[in-house]
Amino acid sequence: MMIIMNTDAEQKQVDKVVKKVKALGFDPHIVDGEERTVVGVGGNNPFIATQGHFSRMPGVDRILPISRPYKLCSREFIPEDSSFPLDGIHIGGRGIVIIAGPCAVEDRGLLLEIAHAIKEAGAHALRGGAFKPRTSPYSFQGHGEKALKWLAEAREASGLPIVTEAMSIEQIKLVAEYADVIQIGARNMQNYSLLHAAGASQHPVLLKRGMSSTVEELLMAAEYILSHDNRRVILCERGIRTFERSTRNTTDINAIPVLKSLTHLPVILDPSHATGNWKYVTAVARAGIAAGADGLIVEVHTEPENALSDGFQSLKPERFAAMVTQIRNIAQAIDRDIAASTHADPAAK
Ligand code: PEP
Ligand code: MN
Repeated sequence: MMIIMNTDAEQKQVDKVVKKVKALGFDPHIVDGEERTVVGVGGNNPFIATQGHFSRMPGVDRILPISRPYKLCSREFIPEDSSFPLDGIHIGGRGIVIIAGPCAVEDRGLLLEIAHAIKEAGAHALRGGAFKPRTSPYSFQGHGEKALKWLAEAREASGLPIVTEAMSIEQIKLVAEYADVIQIGARNMQNYSLLHAAGASQHPVLLKRGMSSTVEELLMAAEYILSHDNRRVILCERGIRTFERSTRNTTDINAIPVLKSLTHLPVILDPSHATGNWKYVTAVARAGIAAGADGLIVEVHTEPENALSDGFQSLKPERFAAMVTQIRNIAQAIDRDIAASTHADPAAK
């Protein structure tokens, strides 16, 4: 439930409400809005049992239940889009954010080359897996910490913040030391102890939708992270499994406006895993932005034919650059734009 404070409530009245929430054994989640403070009460629907405790407290305007099973990520709790700054860019505002890079970090030189190429084309952040969740144990599993070090070097050289996946609780701490955003992959969307650890890290998290998960399950997974008062969460539609075999997955384009109406969290699209084929990536990326996505995460490789994973769905830098131009046009047609980047160019130092 939500305890809505009066517009002129004093801080000490808010503090007393927070203290009472804790005394009753629930978690308070404070949102300082422009007009007023709202205290969200986490826990299993405490509305009926506890509203009487708060309704007559000084400074309290009214108490509202949150009807959805997910609370902190619902629009009922925070009606405005949430956004947060990330190393010179703004995730979740009017500007479209583009994250790009190889599926896996394969080699130091190649990574630096790709980082410069995507930056040149207009990307805002660099992706690349150091720990790879592969269907086969015999496929390339990623270079681990060595790759994290190369990613840190690529950030240094390009100025682009880093997005990379953690597959286990132990990897969360390590990834947080190097990366700007921890990615939780589709296969781990319902790994609840991993979600708790990602939440507790207080690091920004990119949460990908499980390939057989519903929108509600994605939001419940996000709720695990937000329950640690970690609100820097980005949701990602990356295609779901259907009976259709002509593409690797089926882009659930509906999920974008549906998520945007149910949650205040930023929502991005991964057209690379959603299609599994570079030929369709640009078209589906355009559709995602037109549908209201706040950004894209796209696989880009300078030598896709030699890539150790997902080469077939990776764009070459020239095609990626052309995609960015088209995305800019679409964004402007719906009164948005590509996010402005305020990164200082390390090359200009
Ligand atoms: C990835 O982004 O490299 C990845 C493995 O994606 P997903 O978890 O969506 O399959
Ligand atoms: Mn991939």
